[in-house]
Amino acid sequence: MTLDTLRLTAEDARGLLERRELSPAELHAAYLAAAEARDDELHCYLRTVDECVGDGVPIALKDVISTQGIETTAGSRILEGYVPVFDATVAARVKAAGLPLLGKTNTDEFAMGSSTENSAWGPSRNPWDPDRVPGGSGGGSAAAVTAGLAPWALGSDTGGSIKQPAALCGNVGLRPTYGTVSRYGVVAFASSLDQIGPVATTVRDCALLYSIIAGRDPCDSTTVEAPAVELPVAEDLRGLRIGVPRELNEHLGIEAGVKEAVGAAIALAVELGAEVGECELPRSVEYGLPCYYLIAPAEASSNLARYDGVRYGPRVEAASFHEMVERTRDEGFGDEPKRRIMLGTYALAAGYYDAYYGQAQRVRTLIIDEHRSAFERFDLLLSPTSPTVAFPIGERTADPLAMYAADLLTIPSCLAGLPGLNVPCGLSEGLPVGLQLIGPQFGENTLFRAGHALERALGFDPVPVRLREVAT
Ligand code: GLN
Repeated sequence: MTLDTLRLTAEDARGLLERRELSPAELHAAYLAAAEARDDELHCYLRTVDECVGDGVPIALKDVISTQGIETTAGSRILEGYVPVFDATVAARVKAAGLPLLGKTNTDEFAMGSSTENSAWGPSRNPWDPDRVPGGSGGGSAAAVTAGLAPWALGSDTGGSIKQPAALCGNVGLRPTYGTVSRYGVVAFASSLDQIGPVATTVRDCALLYSIIAGRDPCDSTTVEAPAVELPVAEDLRGLRIGVPRELNEHLGIEAGVKEAVGAAIALAVELGAEVGECELPRSVEYGLPCYYLIAPAEASSNLARYDGVRYGPRVEAASFHEMVERTRDEGFGDEPKRRIMLGTYALAAGYYDAYYGQAQRVRTLIIDEHRSAFERFDLLLSPTSPTVAFPIGERTADPLAMYAADLLTIPSCLAGLPGLNVPCGLSEGLPVGLQLIGPQFGENTLFRAGHALERALGFDPVPVRLREVAT
């Protein structure tokens, strides 16, 4: 039987295994065959795993997640050849659930970016149009799921790296509430923001995978036990109050086609019985980006200090220890991590700490408060996920600020530690548009419920038009 991985959900795949219509090894091989056929063009995987270990639905992991015995580079030359001696907790949990590993997916270096063009190993490409970016930093995982190279995958999200690529590739991505999923063994970027979460083609698959990875981990003291996951079934939105923050929906940077698709989804939400009202998050949108671009680089500059040519990866030999560290870091890091290390070190310097980092932390508190008061009136907030559809490869690489603007709408709720779900809601210029649902802390079940109902009503076809001939 030739298996059509493009149209197979993880839930369907699980059904095939349970009914023994297919063996786990055959299923695993079908995804690898799809990768063989399409990944030369898309470059979703940094490496694939031939051997099928486990009896469940296979999975791909973003290359920031440590995998025992399998090279883990976080998209950086400074970790080239680094083979972890242990599994990250999330890798161990998917393994314990029997999910065989398909491979490690491409990422912007240290998850810094919005297009995967910052990967030291070259960019991934968008399955809807290979001349465009798949988003980032988790572009490899998102593109792999959309192109049928994996039924589901894990990504990491600091300021939007799960939600934004899911929007640009047209699939479902969840950034969970801060602290519900362990980061133990995940290459750290900005520890007060980093979260691991699922990418899949349906909201139910996303919920299933979240239930496998969520929960307290004694190895990560920021984790808590998350509420039990309820797989969504309801197809209406009755009783749900959805807030539409004006600043997140009417920002000048939002493309007309994106506004239109999201507007149609809002009208649909009303038809499905939701109570929809306008609200405001004035400071969250105005100050979100600058606040994030102080806090994230500050934390990154500290986290990246460990790459010194001694503990991990390659070393550039030199006459003295200091010169060795300097040359190793100079050759190992690409431009974006260097930019952030410099910015972050500056913001944390004794004389500037209070003016920059301290001030950003105070602004972060305002952003948290603003979201908290919105959730006094609403169960969920709704906006576009990305202000634009997928942009052409190379368009923003020379302009870091244009690249940073890709996360304008995802960053505020990340700073507030809140969960967010991307659900594809239509096409603009032939490219996917994503809808962002933001929940209160631990509001994942509400996100799944609303996301599922909207997904059913929207009927978005997740297979890229150019691949529909292959999909049967
Ligand atoms: N694009 C944002 C950044 O470059 C977010 C990345 C992420 O969430 N890892 O920092």
